[in-house]
Order: sequence, then C-alpha cells, then structure tokens
Amino acid sequence: RSAVEIAQEALNRIKSIEPKIHSFLHVTPDRALEQAQQVDAKIAAGEEIGLLAGIPIGIKDNLCTKGISTTCASRILQNFVPPYESTVTQKLADAGTVMVGKTNMDEFAMGGSTETSAYQLTANPWDVARVPGGSSGGSAAAVAADQCVVSLGSDTGGSIRQPASFCGIVGMKPTYGLVSRYGLVAFASSLDQIGPLGRSVEDTAILLNAIAGYDPKDATSLKVEVPDYTQFLTPDIKGKKVGVIRETFGDGLDPEVEKTIQGAIAQLKDLGAEIQEISCPRFRYGIAAYYIIAPSEASANLARYDGVRYGARAEDAENLMDMYLRTRSEGFGAEVKRRIMIGTYALSAGYYDAYYLQAQKVRTLIKQDFEQAFSQVDVLVSPTAPTTAFKMGEKTADPLSMYLTDLMTIPVNLAGLPGMSVPCGFDAQGMPIGLQIIGNVLREDQIFQVASAYE
Ligand code: GLN
Repeated sequence: RSAVEIAQEALNRIKSIEPKIHSFLHVTPDRALEQAQQVDAKIAAGEEIGLLAGIPIGIKDNLCTKGISTTCASRILQNFVPPYESTVTQKLADAGTVMVGKTNMDEFAMGGSTETSAYQLTANPWDVARVPGGSSGGSAAAVAADQCVVSLGSDTGGSIRQPASFCGIVGMKPTYGLVSRYGLVAFASSLDQIGPLGRSVEDTAILLNAIAGYDPKDATSLKVEVPDYTQFLTPDIKGKKVGVIRETFGDGLDPEVEKTIQGAIAQLKDLGAEIQEISCPRFRYGIAAYYIIAPSEASANLARYDGVRYGARAEDAENLMDMYLRTRSEGFGAEVKRRIMIGTYALSAGYYDAYYLQAQKVRTLIKQDFEQAFSQVDVLVSPTAPTTAFKMGEKTADPLSMYLTDLMTIPVNLAGLPGMSVPCGFDAQGMPIGLQIIGNVLREDQIFQVASAYE
C-alpha cells in the first residue's frame, strides 16, 4: 500500500472511533496527506526511505507545530498557531512520519488522568468509563485504540509512563537532555522530557532513534553520541543485575498490581537475570519535593501568558492590571491556578528557604539513593503506578489522591534518569498493568535490553 492509502486508513479509523475515545484535540488530515504524498514521491523517485516513513503518528498538543493549532489543552492557547516547528516534530517530519493529529492532554501537562483538559475527556480504550491516565492520555489512548501506530508524549513526573501503563502500551521517558525540548511548551523545565509511546518496545526504540540527539536550540541538550537503540533489542539478559525497589511495595499498592509485578520479576529471573532487593529510603519524599519544585518552575514558566504577547486576551478590561487578571482568570483552569499559587508561594521571600531550597536538597538525596543503587545493579524495577486506570471523576475532587498516582515515577524525573513502562498483565477487571524499568543516566541501552527480553 502507498503511504497515502495508509494515512487514509488511519484517518478513517480515527473518524469511526473518535466519538468513543476522544484522543485528539485536532485531527490534521491536510498535514497527514501532504506528508504521505512526500513519502510516495520519494518511493516513486527510487529514493531510499527510512523505517518511519509513512508511519501514522499522534503528537501531544504541547509540541509546537508550525501552522497547526497548539493549545496544551488550555483555553489560554485556544487560538494559538505556532509560527515555528519543535525540533522533535521537525526530525519526525524529516524521517517521513505522517502526523494524523494533536492529542489531548491535561492542561499544560498538569494532571494524571487527562481530566484537566479544558476541552474534552479522553476514554481508556480498555474501558471507556475509565481514564487513560495522564498527562499524555490522548497519546496513549490513540496508540492503544489503533488510531495511530506510535505517538509522542512528554513526561515531567510520569506523564508518559503512567498513561502507557493504564492503556497497556510501552512508553519511555529518556534521560533528561537526550531529546531536545525546543518547541515543547514548558511546564517544569528541569523535569520535562519528551519521549515515545508505542505498542512494542521495538517501536519505541525506532522512534527514540529519530528524536534523540544534541540540539543547539536547547541549552540543556546533551552533547552525546546517540546509538542505534534497536541493536539492544536482544533476548539475552543472563547475569543482568536487576534491583527491585523495596519502597515501591507495601502500603498503597493495589494487591493485584503487586501480584502481577511479582510475576514479572519472577519471569525476569527465569530469563537469567539476577534479582536483588534495593532500598531507596528517600524515594518516599519524592512527591513532596516534586509538588514544590514543579509548581515553582511552572509559576515562572506560565508568567508569559499575560494576554499581551500571544494567546487569549480578555475583552473589556478597564486597565492593564485588570486585563492581566481577567485574561489569566478566564484562561487557566483550576489545576493550573492551584499550581501557580503553590509555586508563587514557595518561591516568595521568606518561604523560599523553607520550601524551595528544602525540596532541592531532597532532590539531591533522591539522586544519591539512585547512585547508590546503580553501583550495585544495571536496572531497577517497580510498578509504574500503584493502581490500574481509575474511573472518570473518581479523583477529581481530591487533588492529593491524584498526586499520589505518580509516587513511583516522580523520583525518576527528579534524578533525570531514563524510565520505561512495559505491559506486564491485567487485573481482575481486565485493566492493564505496567512494569517500570529504570536505568542509570544515558543507560537507555540497559532498559531496552531488559524490556525486549521481558516482552
Ligand atoms: N501527574 C504529574 C503532575 O500532575 C505529572 C505530570 C507530568 O508528568 N506532566 O504534575
């Protein structure tokens, strides 16, 4: 089949099941068909095409796409059409992928269920009464529902891995700095990282190949040689040292999730891995530190939405201060406002030392726990999330219970490490469960090895 035919099939499939799932904020048939035609033209001209050429992909709506609406699922960016392209979507376009649409998400990636989107709720394809996870819930649901082959998400505290786990697919957060953030709308800049979601470990490896690498447009981009990640997809993990993080078991962990994860660990052992228990005692302070650091950075990053430079502007303001106030009051949803208030408070004179500085110290301690762990093992494993996908509306009234869903993923962002969620079974209701595999800095190779052997 031609790339245009494949694109058309994906677009038809989106049309038929979108009314049930609502993964996409904008479907982009024009861009899809244009990109597909370019691939077909290359084939007709006898040019070589890569593995990703003609592959339908969904892009999270916090990645800037030139000429195509990029809203971050926020009212404040409702009419924002970026004049430039993010580095990752440019790289993917160069690789010949076909963008079928921009996926739904929690507003500014703040949330764990995609319910803070200002526009729509996304359903979990395994049970439409449940959430797909978040914040990259649209990207995960779109892949799980076969609306596209792969997708891109962003992960600040678990936003790729947790929805991948809830939707039964593979999702990876690379090492901080491996993938350029140029053109990613900033949430918490020291934690944000873009990464791939797909139905197999191999698909995510191929996608990571295309997006990783140094970019002078991102000051935190790492100047490192990027290997071909598919070379690590070998079934042999004999003697591989796998650490099980003790603190991620026990209180708060759903017993069915625990049983399934123990089964996955037994399977790794059968494959020849050496399993040992590892303690990361400061892990449990991760959430507390994150909910100071991430909102602090967010409060600074979101100061730019003032109604002046771009985005929405409130009408009928009486003066400048009133315009700021009305624009931001109308433009931001409740969760975003909550974060801005927490962050502004934590950074204010008199509280800075007590909260922000203290949280940064905890961040260092968590990093040290990981350093200690990786002096003994090659990878660490844990559940990706303490539960499977919950019902829509179940946690919306209680932000704290929503924050707790990222218990196991947040420390990985605080330390800047790579982490992946791989499907490892189902609970009694038939909802998917994910195993998290964590690697040391830039040791994506180890994660791919273990994940592909397990898969
Ligand atoms: N759920 C977490 C939060 O709300 C993580 C979100 C993310 O990784 N973008 O901050």
